[in-house]
Amino acid sequence: MKRRQFIGLIGLGAAGACAPGGNKSNSTESKNEALKAAPISGHFFPALPYNYNALEPYIDAETMELHYDKHHRGYYKKFTAAIDDSSLETMSMRDVFGEMSKHNDGVRNNGGGYYNHMLFWENLSPEKSEPSARLLSHIVKNFKSFEGFKEAFYKAAKTRFGSGWAWLVLTDDRKLKITSTPNQDNPLMDDVEERGIPLMTIDVWEHAYYLNYQNRRGDYINAFWSIVNWKVVSKRFEKALKGEWLG
Ligand code: MN
Repeated sequence: MKRRQFIGLIGLGAAGACAPGGNKSNSTESKNEALKAAPISGHFFPALPYNYNALEPYIDAETMELHYDKHHRGYYKKFTAAIDDSSLETMSMRDVFGEMSKHNDGVRNNGGGYYNHMLFWENLSPEKSEPSARLLSHIVKNFKSFEGFKEAFYKAAKTRFGSGWAWLVLTDDRKLKITSTPNQDNPLMDDVEERGIPLMTIDVWEHAYYLNYQNRRGDYINAFWSIVNWKVVSKRFEKALKGEWLG
């Protein structure tokens, strides 16, 4: 068995630990952390950090199951197939994205789909939270007010034509910026309009909201604020200030 296949199996096992109905968020989280910290390079399919119905009524269980188990898993499988036996097998995602202009659409679309969804699940939570004082002060400094920030993020997500993502990033000059990307692109890629370290993201592909919201993307974006995991976003901000990023 090749190393990548072995890693993939570990990942699927961790995901299976999060069957709907059980409350295993803590053990699932620690498994993810353990996998990230494992002294082996490679990629794994991450566990969902909560149950499928945990984000209701903002995101319904059926959407979550399809989105995670079909869409996200599909990107992961296609990505690992696309990099099979290549030097990318042991490269971090950050490094892969950093030279994405050299790679084909299979690596780009499936690598982005694999990684972006991982970030997205992590920055959602059924538990209410608030941005850290330091993040909040940076948001207010960059966007005049918290409301101004929410409006700018809403606009980026709402006006992204077709399928894509909206992002809050920290740029190289240590500014918070809001951007959006088409398809499965992300701000770590070397050839996108606005680069930066991702702090928070929302998936605005129709598969992320259509069952519950149909064509009302704006209602889905508004609902997003009720389930943002500000603890994770704040933690990413602290890491990004130090130039650190997992993956
Ligand atoms: Mn998606």
